[in-house]
Amino acid sequence: MTSVTVWNEYRHEREDDDVAAVYPDGIHAAIADCLSSDFEVRTATLEEPEHGLAEEVLASTDVLTWWGHLAHDAVADEVVDRVQEHVLEGMGLIVLHSGHFSKIFKRLMGTTCNLQWREDDRTERLWIVDPGHPIVEGLDECIELPETEMYGEPFDVPEPDRLVFTSWFEGGEVFRSGCCYRRGNGRIFYFRPGHETIPIYENEDVQQVLTNAVRWASPTDGSPRTFGNRP
Ligand code: ZN
Repeated sequence: MTSVTVWNEYRHEREDDDVAAVYPDGIHAAIADCLSSDFEVRTATLEEPEHGLAEEVLASTDVLTWWGHLAHDAVADEVVDRVQEHVLEGMGLIVLHSGHFSKIFKRLMGTTCNLQWREDDRTERLWIVDPGHPIVEGLDECIELPETEMYGEPFDVPEPDRLVFTSWFEGGEVFRSGCCYRRGNGRIFYFRPGHETIPIYENEDVQQVLTNAVRWASPTDGSPRTFGNRP
């Protein structure tokens, strides 16, 4: 069975009452809950030793999901190195919402990953622009979220290998909300929704995307990565 580790920095939920009201057990608990019927799921958070991402955890993780916002700089570089190594060896990585500014995503993208944003709780439509992609299986032609934070272009990331969602926002902005990448043997999916004051991870369509994305990002057997001198 596919093994998923759900990582969360877990700061907002312990420091902000309005976030605790939305996610009383933490964003990681909501995401783990959504994935646990299809996958073997465990959670890891920033305050745990090695942020809960020791070598043995990553070695037995098929797909890692990442939510962070306030404390990107508190993530130790050696843990970022370790996650990157595992991605290059084939571990899937799903980067959520404000995780666009995480050390690991910036490392893997090699760009600033900056964007425009506005907290105005207005409507977003995530239009599916790649209808045959496995990440959108079972969905209608768009996902409508009645209240969201806006993220707008330019989104300073490399051109995605496949773009799965383009968002429209009520303020008129657009954003590349579902971006697929390969780095080494690893598959990476950036998915935009997930602002901490809105119960986005309880939305059934969003849950469907997360489930599909874990399946898509799971490692395949492939062939070994052999480098160096060849006698
Ligand atoms: Zn946000």
